[in-house]
Amino acid sequence: MKPLPLPTPDTAAFFAAIDAGELKVPRCSACGRFFLYPRAYCPFCTSDQVTLEPASGRGSLESYVVNHRPAPGFEEDAPYVLGVVRLAEGPTLFAEIAGDPVVDGDLEAFFEPRSDRNVLKFRMRKAAG
Ligand SMILES: [Zn+2]
Repeated sequence: MKPLPLPTPDTAAFFAAIDAGELKVPRCSACGRFFLYPRAYCPFCTSDQVTLEPASGRGSLESYVVNHRPAPGFEEDAPYVLGVVRLAEGPTLFAEIAGDPVVDGDLEAFFEPRSDRNVLKFRMRKAAG
């Protein structure tokens, strides 16, 4: 059985949004910057004026690995792609990538239902034209 993220007090609202089908990213009200991972203080200016704001779900692929040695529960998915996603809002996160990965290629977020939750994943967007 595939595991699910285990929210902490700092990440509970972030994962609750994902479970509701929305990607929201922490943003500092003092300096205006988005950041990840979710936490109570801005990593840039240490302000505690942090809110979760809706994100576009768009990003680009900074790097990836094709994983042939799956984690427990993911044996049937192997090989699968894990990548570093640079969100349009600025922060990066690590996620599974659907489709043939292209570095610097455009990505869009989607949600995979798992039990009564959602898991955030990204897929390559088709080139325009
Ligand atoms: Zn700040």
